[in-house]
Amino acid sequence: MARNLYQPNNLRDEKALVLFSGGQDSATCLAWALARFSSVETIGFDYGQRHRVELDCRSAVIECIRREFPAWAKNLGQDQTIDLAVLGEISQTALTSDTAIAFEQNGLPNTFVPGRNLMFFTFSAAIGYRRGARHLIGGMCETDYSGYPDCRDDTLKALQATLSLGMGHRFVIHTPLMWRDKAATWALAHALGGDPLVELIREETHSCYLGDRTHHHAWGYGCGDCPACQLRRRGWEAYAGAAG
Ligand code: ZN
Repeated sequence: MARNLYQPNNLRDEKALVLFSGGQDSATCLAWALARFSSVETIGFDYGQRHRVELDCRSAVIECIRREFPAWAKNLGQDQTIDLAVLGEISQTALTSDTAIAFEQNGLPNTFVPGRNLMFFTFSAAIGYRRGARHLIGGMCETDYSGYPDCRDDTLKALQATLSLGMGHRFVIHTPLMWRDKAATWALAHALGGDPLVELIREETHSCYLGDRTHHHAWGYGCGDCPACQLRRRGWEAYAGAAG
């Protein structure tokens, strides 16, 4: 009988690549991966995003994990940032230019960067192919999100099939947050790493679309008004209310 590659014991020995932006969701996914795989690498993308401060937060989060979570630190491998400036140049959205954030006629906010997650996963698969990592992990979620079609479960399942076929290599796309709202994402962080991980994510990760790290709130740094800040605040309040 064929060996079942999906048994937990075998999974542990395999290599995973986490799409790590420096935000709350991908930091939670990084912890999720470190708790499951013995070898975890991280990848980030610089596409001229307005919230470039997110990229600075990446190294702060990684340093904190190395320092405060020794059991995870030994599983944490190299980190790399890929230059995707061309994505910012062609997309002209409120995430990559100095435009007010608003909703467009199709119901999507103008922060939507078309094809962003498709490109992120395609680049990650190309790197995973070379580095022997077939598990690709992203923080996409369609429970508590802005309606971006490339965050949807069906999109990513189709992409998993496309990448596996197109590269002749079995990839598995994991999206641990897909069916969790933001409060449940905080609860997952707590289940994985207790108060120290919640604290790390609250203080060191960044979600604000405007890149504001001058205003500090109970839920972390941000302008407090943009859609990302509102989601983060509401999630934190629901989590803290349930926990307290
Ligand atoms: Zn904000």
